Amino acid sequence: MAVSGDDGLENVACNLCGSRRHTFVYEMPDPRYFPDELFRVLECDDCGLGFVNPRPTLQEIAKYYPPEYFRSPSTQSFDRYLIRRFTREARYLDDMWNGDTPRTLLDVGCANGDFPRFMAARGWQVEGVEVSPASERITDFPVHTQEFHHIPTHEPTYDAITAWAVLEHVHDPMAYFRKAAQVLRKNGRFIFAVTNFHSAASRFLFCEDIPRHLYFFNRETIRRYLQSAGLVWEKEDNGRAIYKLAPRNWLSFMWKSKLLGRGFTYKDLPLTSREFRERHGLQPGIRAALRYAAYSPSASIDRMLWPVIESAQILRKTYGISVYVARKG
Ligand SMILES: [Zn+2]
Repeated sequence: MAVSGDDGLENVACNLCGSRRHTFVYEMPDPRYFPDELFRVLECDDCGLGFVNPRPTLQEIAKYYPPEYFRSPSTQSFDRYLIRRFTREARYLDDMWNGDTPRTLLDVGCANGDFPRFMAARGWQVEGVEVSPASERITDFPVHTQEFHHIPTHEPTYDAITAWAVLEHVHDPMAYFRKAAQVLRKNGRFIFAVTNFHSAASRFLFCEDIPRHLYFFNRETIRRYLQSAGLVWEKEDNGRAIYKLAPRNWLSFMWKSKLLGRGFTYKDLPLTSREFRERHGLQPGIRAALRYAAYSPSASIDRMLWPVIESAQILRKTYGISVYVARKG
């Protein structure tokens, strides 16, 4: 289905419905590592799936995941954040085990293995899938190092499969949904978090981590994926309990697009406060904050408005992150 050139990029049809009819949504560079490389985000005219096209091939994509991508800050506050996040993720599994026969969990995209390790401490039998050679080697539980749909398991084996912020990264999400349906036991759960293409952050504010994010889902496209794979929809939790996707620059977007009727492009974004400090050689502190406020008053007001905007979005189910739970019937 993919047509690749010698520049390491390939053109693809819609992964969900196979259509080649699509509409341009926006263009932006790799904000982290390759600021000179531009990528286009399209939306399928037939099903609404968002995707990067053309995109780096499977061979080429490793370049966009350098070792520092996998490095977490080793600070106490980061550890506390992880425990909080894992505790919230574990809530989707806690009611599945009553203490007798251990349940089995496969965590797809387990990175350094911290979440499966957390679940192992709660009595689960755990395995992981991690394709990136840049992540740390895991020795305390089995980890498959090929893509999920290529692991050598073909029978219903797992009580739960989790994929925390993984499906937007892969080249073939349909293969992942089908594999989950194949290797889950009856009534097993597939639980995954993805960004929400119905949110301002994903669709208008350039908050997606492109080209590490290749796909942009919403509840309709997720429903259709689940249906195609033979999984049953259980629920969607739209919100910031597990991951956040702040509606950064919402104010200037609303100002330019809604009030002035202009388009809002990547070039309209102000520097982030960190980029601003780096450019001007400033240390974090009051002086840097004041200079940043003078540079971009709207960004500073915008930052103060986040809690209100986020709460309104969560009420309308248009926040940037959704967790879905599906069941194998
Ligand atoms: Zn489509």
